[in-house]
Amino acid sequence: MRLMRILLTNDDGVHAPGMLALKRSLEGLGELFVVAPERPRSAAGHAVTLHKPLRLAETTLADGSRAWCSSGTPSDCVSLGFEVVMDGRADLLVSGINDGANLGWDLTYSGTVMAAMEGAILGLTAIAVSVSGPAPRRYDGAGPVAARVVRAVMRQGLPANVLLNVNVPSLDPSQLGEIVITRQGRREYIDRIVRRHDPAGREYYWLSGSVEDGVQPIDTDVGAVEAGMISVTPLQLDMTAHPVREDLAAWPDWMRKGEEP
Ligand code: MN
Repeated sequence: MRLMRILLTNDDGVHAPGMLALKRSLEGLGELFVVAPERPRSAAGHAVTLHKPLRLAETTLADGSRAWCSSGTPSDCVSLGFEVVMDGRADLLVSGINDGANLGWDLTYSGTVMAAMEGAILGLTAIAVSVSGPAPRRYDGAGPVAARVVRAVMRQGLPANVLLNVNVPSLDPSQLGEIVITRQGRREYIDRIVRRHDPAGREYYWLSGSVEDGVQPIDTDVGAVEAGMISVTPLQLDMTAHPVREDLAAWPDWMRKGEEP
């Protein structure tokens, strides 16, 4: 069988511990190509760089292996990795292991998950992996879980336009629960904006806030990791609220036709 060509990226930067942990865990599953941002780009979301040049440079990871780093966002790294480094020949993309959870409504902020989404858009089988829990977070549980999910995906395949979002509690591997297949939960923050004053007396702001999720069902990503289980959520590129389409179509004609009464 042909060796799988696997693109690895993240949003914490090419030299983040989670990248090395991911690479070590996936060794032996295929030919690995690490292409990641040259500096931390967490919360970059799905941003792409359109109005300035993108740089791509070779670098060496802490284990002595070759990697590439880019001045761009995580999604830029997926495009560069796929088309430039891998010459358009890639089977799988794994993004992570992110230093922090990617749950509920946070997903579109996430450089980790949106890099996987970019991979799905490029037609790759894509998986995002994150570690959930208080810092400092450990990767010795998430690494083998990532390898297990990758092996399962290699066997079973995924439908087109679907990606997996994996969140692993930051626990001793012996304490880790099973994988639960989940849906997106809710993620709400309180006190999101912190106001301060600079030395000149002008107000400035920090986006901050603390999570107020409350208790959520075990079949949600938030509820599963809270219970010490590993969450795997299938996500899709189609963000259409399908049931609402019908409702909107039944709204009065004047909205569509422009003949407002
Ligand atoms: Mn991150």
